[in-house]
Amino acid sequence: MNGRVADILVYHATRSFGSRENLVRQGERVAHLYRSLEPEEAAALARLAVEGTEPTAMAESDMILRCLGCLRPGSLTGHHEALIHRGLFYPPVIYHRAGPDIARRLLDRLPGEPMNHVLCALAWVGGEDFEAALRSWREQPPAWAKELDLPPERYAHQAGWELDREGHRRDLTTPTCRPLVPPHEVPGEVTGVRFLEGHEGACGWCGRPLTTLLDIDLETYPMVHVTPFQGRLRIAACEVCSCYGTVFTKVDMKGSFAWHGSNERPDDLPEPDEEWETLPRHGLAPGPRPRDPVESADWLVPGVSFSQLGGHPTWIQDAEYPECPDCHQTMPFVGQISNEDCQEFGEGIYYLFACGRCGVTATGYQQS
Ligand SMILES: [Zn+2]
Ligand SMILES: [Zn+2]
Repeated sequence: MNGRVADILVYHATRSFGSRENLVRQGERVAHLYRSLEPEEAAALARLAVEGTEPTAMAESDMILRCLGCLRPGSLTGHHEALIHRGLFYPPVIYHRAGPDIARRLLDRLPGEPMNHVLCALAWVGGEDFEAALRSWREQPPAWAKELDLPPERYAHQAGWELDREGHRRDLTTPTCRPLVPPHEVPGEVTGVRFLEGHEGACGWCGRPLTTLLDIDLETYPMVHVTPFQGRLRIAACEVCSCYGTVFTKVDMKGSFAWHGSNERPDDLPEPDEEWETLPRHGLAPGPRPRDPVESADWLVPGVSFSQLGGHPTWIQDAEYPECPDCHQTMPFVGQISNEDCQEFGEGIYYLFACGRCGVTATGYQQS
């Protein structure tokens, strides 16, 4: 077996890396190996994982599929029929870039189990047939919808899109993605976008000073989904309270800010004097190279630093796109800041959203 493929298999079969530091280092190394595979090597790895034959055990197959789906988008195309045959529908991102025939095969399985997973997989496949199914389920919910946790059409959020009121696909993520890295890794000075700065406002719930998570000039860093924001978009939130409930702010295109009147104070906020390690100021900057927007789509993929501008959110729990309190449309994703990238033992991710039409921003948070 080829060196890189064998090396990857050894990584996945390893049960302990000794220290947290080594775990991180080996994760980065294996992510790099995946990205540098020749197409035929990626194909060989995909065959091993899909067929699930020795030397790959089930748990290893699952991780290989995740890694191929995110780090090598398209490498599983041609294997989806076999995945369906084996009843493998999870994680759903492995169905990204499957064709219309696969969508029809998945639709034919409904309402069979595992219904949740099949719907999530369909969301990743997307396409005309699934959109048509969602439109008809919206008109007349199928009897099996009662067994689901969400209305069927909400499953599209898992793959970053939805049907708009007219029944057309509306993407909630951006096709471009820029990872954020420690500023010392960026050659030269970055203009037009800054992360993690102080803010003049105070949290409407706890009174702590707010943090500017993102301050971006959209002329320099155009992002499709926050248009008609043409000027400056500044997203601020309370580092503490955002972890307990979505914080909405009202902004204009010049950087002004107001606490949104519809913010609903969560019941379980920590005491105002409780110590909280704040995010390091200017601790992140846009990296020199873009990456595939799907690279961050599965939080268990090793070696990916999840802080990013644009791309696909790394949901740790189920997808949670906030509804704009002004127009009641789902708010598109702008970017995310992972505590792990900023603090030594940090965990959890802050998710940033903006409704360009209303001038409303939102910050959510998830952790394991
Ligand atoms: Zn607060
Ligand atoms: Zn709105």
